[in-house]
Amino acid sequence: MKVHDKMKVVHSICPQCSVGCGINLINIDNRLVGTYPYKRHPINEGKNCKKGRDCIELVFEENRPKNPLVNKNGTFSDYSWEEALDLFVSKIKSYTPQDIGIIGSGNSTNEDLEILSKFADALGVEKKGFYAENFPAFNIETATLDDVQSSNFILIVGDVIKESPLIGRRIILARENGAEVVSADSADKTFTGLNSDKYIKIRSIGEFLDNIGPEVHNKLKDSATIIFNKLDLKEEFEKIQNIAEDSGSKILPVLKQCNTRGAMRFLPALNQEEISRLINDVKFLYVVGDNPALYAEESFKNLDFLVTQSSSINETVLLSDLVFPASCWVEKTGTFTNTTGDMQKISKTISAPAEVLEDQRIISKIAEKIGIELGDKK
Ligand code: SF4
Repeated sequence: MKVHDKMKVVHSICPQCSVGCGINLINIDNRLVGTYPYKRHPINEGKNCKKGRDCIELVFEENRPKNPLVNKNGTFSDYSWEEALDLFVSKIKSYTPQDIGIIGSGNSTNEDLEILSKFADALGVEKKGFYAENFPAFNIETATLDDVQSSNFILIVGDVIKESPLIGRRIILARENGAEVVSADSADKTFTGLNSDKYIKIRSIGEFLDNIGPEVHNKLKDSATIIFNKLDLKEEFEKIQNIAEDSGSKILPVLKQCNTRGAMRFLPALNQEEISRLINDVKFLYVVGDNPALYAEESFKNLDFLVTQSSSINETVLLSDLVFPASCWVEKTGTFTNTTGDMQKISKTISAPAEVLEDQRIISKIAEKIGIELGDKK
């Protein structure tokens, strides 16, 4: 049989940032071998950035847990699912809801997050959330990419053109159509600044927002969009909303992870300090799809028992007492909600290793063993 007879091409969504570009994944013999842009996708119109084109590097063949693992004095041993689930259940039952913490991820699908949130509610766990940098949860209408492209004036906070190139493309197209672009950030220069009509070096976002002069304010009244991918404090979101409301401009918050906006519907959006406090305040922590040891390791020292559910071996997995092997985004179906609020389907492209299960399935199995009802079970 010729190689191309075994080749499949599957349309999916790039998981590398919150823009939500369409991407075609090339599968030969249940292995991902490459990508190419999804030509008719309305967000990226046949383009993907380098990070997107390389997204298959996120799928690990080796550096991932392939069985449930239990850490005994620093050495991980393979456990059967039955034994691992029994251990989870016996441990979690020995804590009150106040001593239990649950951390999800903006990289998980809406469906996985929904069941995790139901699980937390069924147990009465209030110390729960996911890392959303300094963005608060919001549920407002935001600008579309077509709005960005048709703006007359664009005010940018952060290096948006560099960090989200397929939003950057729309900003550059708007500028080619005559839009004026002003950007602000704390660095001496940024890629976005180099592609703007004016770059303002700022000391802090709050100070910049408090001192927007009448000239910029007037420009914001003329078919304008404010785009921002960072905040120093959660309250700055409201400041930007107020400026937009006063001037009649639109706003586009550019979130970090592919489903940060979706995750806000299911779990509290926490910043680094809030995540650290959550971890510090509990004895039993269940982490699904995130790697908080990367940004809050200090707070792990008070934990009695750490369970991590992951598709890769990361810093948090290495600290864990129990590890559940989970499918990654190409091994399941579901949806991501991108930063402009569009919910898009991802496709199962390859099969996961035999003992690796989807997050929803693992959570359902735990719930079943504990004897709690979550509604939709897989
Ligand atoms: S802009 Fe973001 S979603 Fe689009 S291809 Fe690049 S990394 Fe992927």
